[in-house]
Amino acid sequence: MSDCCGRSGTVRPPDDVESGDGDDECFVPLSPVLLDPSGVPALECRATGTGVGEDLTPLRGMKQQVVVKTIGQVMRVKWEANGNYSSDVQGQADGGRQLVKKRRPVTVDTSKAKTSLEGLKISIKQLKWKEIPTGRRAPCDIYWHGGSFHDNENITSGQVNKFPGMLEMSRKINLSRAVRIMQELFPVEYDFYPRSWILPDEYQQFSAQIRTVKECDGALSPTFIVKPDGGCQGEGIYLIRDPAELRPAPAGAQTRQVVVQEYVRKPLLIDKLKFDIRLYVLLKSLEPLEIYIAKEGLTRFCTEPYEEPSQKNLSHVFMHLTNYSLNVHSENFVHSESQSTGSKRTLSSVLRRLADKGADVKRVWSDIIALVIKTVVAVVPQLKVYYQADIPPGKPGPSCFQILGFDILLMKNLKPVLLEVNANPSMRIEHEQEVSPGVYECVPSPVDEEVKVAVIRDTLRLVDPRLKRAPFSQRKLSGTEDSPGDPPLTNHPDAMPSPCLKQVYPKYSRQFNYLRLVERIAALFVRFLGVKGNMRLGPTAFRTFIRNCKLSSSNFTMASVDILYIDITRRWSGALPDSREAGMGLQAFVEAFFYLAARRFKSQTAREQAVSLLDACEAQLETPPQAPEERRSLSCGRAPSRGVALKPGIRFRHPPPRRASSREGRGSETRSRDADD
Ligand code: ADP
Repeated sequence: MSDCCGRSGTVRPPDDVESGDGDDECFVPLSPVLLDPSGVPALECRATGTGVGEDLTPLRGMKQQVVVKTIGQVMRVKWEANGNYSSDVQGQADGGRQLVKKRRPVTVDTSKAKTSLEGLKISIKQLKWKEIPTGRRAPCDIYWHGGSFHDNENITSGQVNKFPGMLEMSRKINLSRAVRIMQELFPVEYDFYPRSWILPDEYQQFSAQIRTVKECDGALSPTFIVKPDGGCQGEGIYLIRDPAELRPAPAGAQTRQVVVQEYVRKPLLIDKLKFDIRLYVLLKSLEPLEIYIAKEGLTRFCTEPYEEPSQKNLSHVFMHLTNYSLNVHSENFVHSESQSTGSKRTLSSVLRRLADKGADVKRVWSDIIALVIKTVVAVVPQLKVYYQADIPPGKPGPSCFQILGFDILLMKNLKPVLLEVNANPSMRIEHEQEVSPGVYECVPSPVDEEVKVAVIRDTLRLVDPRLKRAPFSQRKLSGTEDSPGDPPLTNHPDAMPSPCLKQVYPKYSRQFNYLRLVERIAALFVRFLGVKGNMRLGPTAFRTFIRNCKLSSSNFTMASVDILYIDITRRWSGALPDSREAGMGLQAFVEAFFYLAARRFKSQTAREQAVSLLDACEAQLETPPQAPEERRSLSCGRAPSRGVALKPGIRFRHPPPRRASSREGRGSETRSRDADD
């Protein structure tokens, strides 16, 4: 812009101002920056409100207003407390001196993206957003972590692509426990997860089960798959048919704990090969619960024709394990440019093939959606505990979202079975290829790129901070196939391919809301945690819970309450020397809650008991019913699951003594993995 003396100048916020996470407009002059002969920009700065430096750098955490004056023109730039800024022009612009209003690009800190980096870079470029590759002093809109929430510390605004505690919850033992709680309450709904035992704690129950099966039918010889807790990429996995075949943990193993699971003997085969599905799921928010599923995923094929397990083929990993990381070493592995052949194919190509053979693919897809929603519902209560500990309500903090990798097996009858949930699904878009004997090179993988870039890009589009500020009416799509609640992906300023992520929750909340029972128990738990940042209930807090909910009586004195607390906490905490870990965690609290419910409402089913006790506690505490959406605070959160539809005939089986994993506590997210694959 030229001033009245013929000089040109511009008002340009310094680089780090651009990274605010809120309002998104800045003014860009049509003419380039021109300094006066002395090299001083032709503008004058003065600050109003809380102080500001001449260099226009906003002070983080302070509300301030800067009036930037060019000769003949005043531009007011306002920085908000969180680094956002907005601006307007005051005074008369001279003829021809126009300002172009340009959207400030969304900034993405990619400094911790690790192996997602390539796919992330492509996505950012496609969206015309701004990559901040080395991290920066001022806040970014989005932080993309390759490991866990804690990859970058002290983030106080914006969004992080990991939830605190997700890495923990995706460990095999924690996932099994979370699903098991749901199986106690909803056995029919949660029959998509194979029966599992956590060893060594549940060795007795496991061997008793095998004995019972064999006594009933001597010809039966069930097979089990043994998976080390925290393992990935098929590492350390083996099949057994007898408890005597269990192997001791290898020297130097992180943990002795394993999950033993019923082996699915009759998987669906294609080309005589076993395969599994890698489905990408976006958990966009916990409160309100928002889940998206990618319409496109990957299928990973074994490389040896499948046979039902027998003593002679138990050790054939290329026949029984579908992991890419294992099968890629088989001489039968086929790298293919095509999406519908080879050892890694797109999910849509497999579904098309099934449809051609007459399979009810719509049914398969809706079963998969149900499996995903139910699994997320199972882990959300514990995630909320982690969340409030790391991002206490009322304190500045980022919000979170996360892409999860669901590994799903289809049985011969097309019923989906959940194998595991990966908190860090591989987002690599290249693979290693042996170019000459013993020499490996990273080469692009078209199938991976096609699927994964779309997932990353659509995730970014869904968490675009500018969408939050759009009026709700503008968020709705008209004349598209998206549901009314979907954000306006296809109306995005930058026209993009149609979105691959489909909202499934809250879209299907009416069918699944009744399952969110444990979330209500978790809300009680969090309410009594007291100190911010806590994840475990002390004995006094547990007493307060009992007292405030009026759960003690002459039959159940406070002394009995103390004994209950000590008994359950000791069994759950095992030998944890770390004092930070002392106390009653959520899963132990749920066990105590079920016990109290069974005592008080003897004649009811387990689910009815839990609902009755929840209603009683909430009535005593008079929690005002509020829409969870209205709160960022999770401390008094209550899932909207009142009026739960009860099905009679379900008995709560008291869980066997268990020991909490030493990783259950916070701050233990040390392990990062990258496991498609
Ligand atoms: P990892 O995290 O090490 O990949 P998974 O639980 O995904 O462990 O198991 C590895 C592979 O073993 C799966 O991809 C699947 O092919 C096979 N598998 C796992 N659990 C079962 C099961 N219960 N029944 C049949 N096959 C299974």
